[in-house]
Amino acid sequence: MGIYSITSSNPTLADDISCIALSPAAIQNILTTAFKYSSNWRFKFNAGKSSVLRFTPSPPHKDSPVTWFLGTEPVCLSNSYNHLGIHLHSKLVHTEKIANACRKGRQAYFALKIREHLNPDTISRLYTRVVLPSIMYGCELWYDLRKKDLQDLNTLQHFICKHADLWNKTVKAAVTNLHIDCRLQRMLSHPDFILCNTINAGRPPFAIWKFPSNIHEIEICKFVVKLWGLPTLPPEVCTVCGSCFTNVFQHISTVCPGTVALRDAWWNTVIEDYDITLSAELCGLCPQDLYLFLLGSRLLSVTASYHNERSRHILNFRFLRDAAAWFYRHLKFTQ
Ligand SMILES: [Zn+2]
Repeated sequence: MGIYSITSSNPTLADDISCIALSPAAIQNILTTAFKYSSNWRFKFNAGKSSVLRFTPSPPHKDSPVTWFLGTEPVCLSNSYNHLGIHLHSKLVHTEKIANACRKGRQAYFALKIREHLNPDTISRLYTRVVLPSIMYGCELWYDLRKKDLQDLNTLQHFICKHADLWNKTVKAAVTNLHIDCRLQRMLSHPDFILCNTINAGRPPFAIWKFPSNIHEIEICKFVVKLWGLPTLPPEVCTVCGSCFTNVFQHISTVCPGTVALRDAWWNTVIEDYDITLSAELCGLCPQDLYLFLLGSRLLSVTASYHNERSRHILNFRFLRDAAAWFYRHLKFTQ
């Protein structure tokens, strides 16, 4: 054994000495030489911190008659030893070494106290310059690794990559929140959403999607939601009754004589199927407020059970759609 052309059985680094020999007697000779040297130079080797490793595929016998001495103190035989931070095993297996490297790597990674907002480039640089060297220390001596050892190393790397990926999740969440904020701001200030905000009165507009119980009712709700965002248009003259309006849907559903039959049928249902307080309150509403009520406004003081409320909304939405369909047919036949 040696380094390049220098042969040596006793590689030494500072005060760490290792002695290599082919037989128990030879190792005892080296230990005796070392002990004599320490006595001459008035220093002491700690036999308690020293160990003998026997590199062999079979485990050493516990009742092994061979004992080594450093002066008068015995040196124990052990299975593994940490020499210069590298675990050596008597069977020359690397499992313990790899487990140790992974533990050190994990400790080094968490010692960095990586916060969620740290840039992935920075995390990557810290990983390669701080964490990897602590894992790979002494890797020059790794050879013929077992499948499990390789898997452990992969698991560690995968864990760190996944942990560092938290940053991406944080960014995604921040971007989503920003979009939601922008949308809310736009909905609060943009004229297109004035009607929508009035109808929902600060409540989430998605409550409407709780009303439909089948595909047809979903279509009706979609139609009503479109009406919520109808932009204000210049005044027009009704081709049925000749009166002026700015919102064609409000006109045909609340005042236009052309849809009076539909409106009467709707009134009859409201009077017959619902509490009298509802029709009493509706009688006093102006066309604008009645239109808001038809669109699902919750500004009315009338309270109803959920089932009643659901069926009332669907009744109103259906009436709106029928009135719009009637007007569309009328326009088509008069043009
Ligand atoms: Zn009209």
